[in-house]
Amino acid sequence: MKVADKLLHIEEQIQEACARSNRKREEVTLIAVTKYVTIERAKEALEAGIEDLGENRDEGLLAKYEVLQDRPNWHYIGSLQTRKVKNVIDKIAYIHSLDRISLAAEIQKRANEPIKCLVQVNVSGEESKHGLKPSEVLPFIQELAEYDRIIVAGLMTMAPLTDDEQALRTCFRGLKELQMQIQEAKLAHAPCTELSMGMSNDFVIAIEEGATMIRIGTALVGEES
Ligand SMILES: *Cc1c(COP(=O)(O)O)cnc(C)c1O
Repeated sequence: MKVADKLLHIEEQIQEACARSNRKREEVTLIAVTKYVTIERAKEALEAGIEDLGENRDEGLLAKYEVLQDRPNWHYIGSLQTRKVKNVIDKIAYIHSLDRISLAAEIQKRANEPIKCLVQVNVSGEESKHGLKPSEVLPFIQELAEYDRIIVAGLMTMAPLTDDEQALRTCFRGLKELQMQIQEAKLAHAPCTELSMGMSNDFVIAIEEGATMIRIGTALVGEES
């Protein structure tokens, strides 16, 4: 199916979720996750009107960047190895996976200008998941004040793989609560306005719980390569 056709369906669901939760459509940025698909397919997403693309590996990002350049806003959504930072830092608009000080230090060293970062949080507590424990997030963000190349634009999480709606809501609410805690701290380097949560299976619930960025791969561009 064409991306444009899938987009129609996704867009309808986004708008309905926004309406149900009294939110404006403009509050939610749709990121097409192109990690499974070809450059051609990513280009098709741009032609369908999508402006934000997400990749989770430096190889994938660099290959697509070579062709698409700065046309999309690039989001780095995967766990980022410290030694890969220099390859991607000047190409991306957002890093969604800041989860350790060693990574912050490398970003500080390599970035020519401040870059928007989201702190990845393991809200659900699953062992397989990356990210900080909720209790670690505020101290971590306070520590980031020393790094003037890092803007804490928001928080990111991955929900558990489940159809249990209540479990998903609990996870997304947990991230929203943390965001409010950080905003209350009024840290100049941490406006923390973004909540990156929601993927193909759970983006509707994520929007209802306050997502400002949703990351959709399978349901939008598919998983063929
Ligand atoms: C792959 C991936 C997505 C997209 O997943 P889908 O279920 O295919 O929509 C979103 N976020 C992250 C961090 C990912 O790695």
